[in-house]
Amino acid sequence: RVNSEVPKTQTRSLVAFSVFLYRARLEVSTLTYWSAPIVWEGTFERSVLEDYYSKRKITIGLTVFAIGKYLDKYLKTFLTSADTFFMVGHKVIFYIMVDDPSKVPLIKLGPLRTFKLFQVTKESRWQDISMMRMKMIGELIESHIKYEVDFLFCMDVDQVFQGDYGLETLDESVAQLQAWFYNADKEDFTYERHPQSAAYIPYQQGDYYYHGAVFGGTPPRVLNLTKECYEGIRRDKEKNIEALWHDESNLNKYFFFNKPTKLLSPEYCWDYKIGRSADVKDVKLSWMPKEYEVVRSG
Ligand code: UDP
Ligand code: MN
Repeated sequence: RVNSEVPKTQTRSLVAFSVFLYRARLEVSTLTYWSAPIVWEGTFERSVLEDYYSKRKITIGLTVFAIGKYLDKYLKTFLTSADTFFMVGHKVIFYIMVDDPSKVPLIKLGPLRTFKLFQVTKESRWQDISMMRMKMIGELIESHIKYEVDFLFCMDVDQVFQGDYGLETLDESVAQLQAWFYNADKEDFTYERHPQSAAYIPYQQGDYYYHGAVFGGTPPRVLNLTKECYEGIRRDKEKNIEALWHDESNLNKYFFFNKPTKLLSPEYCWDYKIGRSADVKDVKLSWMPKEYEVVRSG
């Protein structure tokens, strides 16, 4: 029973806290030092979240790029699995960016799902294809997405949904822990270490190593992220330099200065090559095997 003495604002924040961080899991960290929840399986109660969002009738956007060989190789699996597991029971708009619309696979989406297809020109270097996403997502948020969705995710296409990826992931600004580094020492994070680069993070600094394959939030927050990251990329290009992991390095710099309000555990972007991990109870999305020689040639 809520004590009637408790001021309204406090009651409300208690409710929000129980909605977003239902339980802690003792063997893994479930809260950052700036009090953002780290979502692991077992830390949330889906029925509570469904109840919370049922009154709000939300729409969730998901952007994905499939350019060149990635279109043939990954898009169908990504979309089919997203149709099955991404935000089940809620309205979803897929924003699909391709270089060749004639190659887009025919997929019958579920009733609450629609898609918008955009043709983009293919950059010749794969690094540029990856980095230019920041510019294009920003433009798309301003032209379409901000009018159409409440929450947005932006993902790599070389992944497959394995289980329910739901409301527990939604927040103002959402970052994904990179599966290979979630337990690593800060010194070993593959941040950009050259001070000349806009993505520079000195040794001893930084919080987590975030994955460039998944980020999200509300449209204004994601817009700010893409603008800042693209600005870093552009400034480096002017100097003829490039951050070690391209857009991911710039994303890490951004989230270091603009703390995400929610982090997703590696269960939300797992690489089965890591092998078994007791921490990972329920994989929701996983990396697709990558034949680098094939997808990155010509
Ligand atoms: N991408 C693409 N075609 C390319 C290179 C990249 O469509 O030739 C897109 C695609 O969505 C891909 C993302 O950019 O998932 C990031 O590139 P990649 O997955 O190769 O980066 P990695 O995950 O290996 O860091
Ligand atoms: Mn990828």
